[in-house]
Amino acid sequence: TKHFPIRRRLRTLFTKQRAVHAVEQVDLVLRKGRVTAMVGESGSGKSTVARLLAQLVKQTDGKILLHGDVVHATGGRRFRAYCRRVQMVFQDPFASLNPIHTVRYHLTRALKIHHSEATAEELLTRVSLTPPERFLSKFPHELSGGQRQRVAIARALAAGPEALLADEPVSMLDVSIRLGVLNLLRDLRDRLNLAILYITHDIASARYFADEVLVMYAGQVVEGGGGEAVTQHAAHPYTRLLIASAPDPDRIAGAESEVEEVGGGEPPSLIDPPSGCRFHPRCPHAMARCETDAPPRLTVESNGDGPHWAACWLYDANTVEAAR
Ligand code: SF4
Ligand code: MG
Repeated sequence: TKHFPIRRRLRTLFTKQRAVHAVEQVDLVLRKGRVTAMVGESGSGKSTVARLLAQLVKQTDGKILLHGDVVHATGGRRFRAYCRRVQMVFQDPFASLNPIHTVRYHLTRALKIHHSEATAEELLTRVSLTPPERFLSKFPHELSGGQRQRVAIARALAAGPEALLADEPVSMLDVSIRLGVLNLLRDLRDRLNLAILYITHDIASARYFADEVLVMYAGQVVEGGGGEAVTQHAAHPYTRLLIASAPDPDRIAGAESEVEEVGGGEPPSLIDPPSGCRFHPRCPHAMARCETDAPPRLTVESNGDGPHWAACWLYDANTVEAAR
């Protein structure tokens, strides 16, 4: 499509080793045994990133790498292997299961497609729907939202994935059961050594369980770093605004209704984004250069958890000099 919001490189790589250096706007590395949270308002492009990684849409530019090999959307064996290894969990558990089929059907079908050795019972046990026999014969309407999302996760696991792309997996669930589903994802990260991309507009939930946090604004990643660094010491003015708009930043994930509106105006159109720093029309710290020059990624702090950076002129050494 012409007006694709992510114009630059899109890279993903699964490796047990170390991070590949981020070089462009959406340059994303998922690593086994890690949760990477992508946080932003609706319309920031975060769901598009997940759909791109799942290859539900194709990128017009940029690359996806798996274990260092470029994934080509050719439908060949390697592409099919990629699609098996990278599974998506959608936001709406009510739409993702077919109402006329039982849980058994959904799971055995997924197992057959992926020639998996696992069984439907094992999958249900993995997502804590026990005893599994009780759930196999149920239809989606006989399950709660949380149970359906667990079935959807079990179905994703049928493929034996290395990565789960979870797009707002708890935002449509009852507040009281969100934490349970997030804990399940965390548990799967640890037990199955999965790479998880957790997409959310709720920065408090990212704080709760992400190893790494990326903040998206207007189709670009504007801040990134370790989960604690970004959520406790937010550097980018937009991230600070997100945190300030959360009902209670210290609350436990999902314990409150989510923030749909963030103070200080609307997110901009991705078709005709603002010049310079895309956040400048809303930014309380905007300077003259912000209107004309797009800020590069500037290091806020380097620590053992990898660099904490922000695409913001406030972290430019020259800017600091000028302000003194
Ligand atoms: Fe605000 Fe300028 Fe930083 Fe953009 S670059 S976030 S406008 S201070
Ligand atoms: Mg979305």
